[in-house]
Amino acid sequence: MGTLLPVLEVIARSLGYRLLRIRRDRAGLGIADGAIPYRTTVFDDDVPGVANLDPPFLAALRRAAADAASEGVVFTVNSGWRTPAYQRRLRREAVIEHGSEEAAARWVSTPETSPHVAGDAVDLGPAAAQAWLTAHGSAYGLYQVYRNEPWHYELRPDGRPPMHDTPADDPRHR
Ligand SMILES: [Zn+2]
Repeated sequence: MGTLLPVLEVIARSLGYRLLRIRRDRAGLGIADGAIPYRTTVFDDDVPGVANLDPPFLAALRRAAADAASEGVVFTVNSGWRTPAYQRRLRREAVIEHGSEEAAARWVSTPETSPHVAGDAVDLGPAAAQAWLTAHGSAYGLYQVYRNEPWHYELRPDGRPPMHDTPADDPRHR
């Protein structure tokens, strides 16, 4: 297994890219817009959704991820930087899923207000990574900012920010 695992990793990653390429053919948006391939980490410079994050934020994420990895916890990036077009599509999908603009706003911001479009937010998994950051994130300036999104992290070098119930309650979004 010592040599097999890296091979499986490569196959899984290329499969993730291929699936996203197929999806882009259908909907017109892909990795260049911030779609994230399967098993992306904060170290993947070739994924724009990671590479286009704000540099100090990305540096803090990498320091934290390296320390977490030394304790056996791996950070997976499920979402990061996004183009306005990609954010607009996510918002449209959220309106369909949740039934109204008002309900969607509790989960997905507009392109004008989303910290993801600004490169200032990541959605991380799995639960073990979220638990690790809850315990240790403040040492890196990394904080959860929405009570309903335990996966969403932002950089706050000046210390713990107020936690909002949902993105709709964030004054930055008004
Ligand atoms: Zn988020």
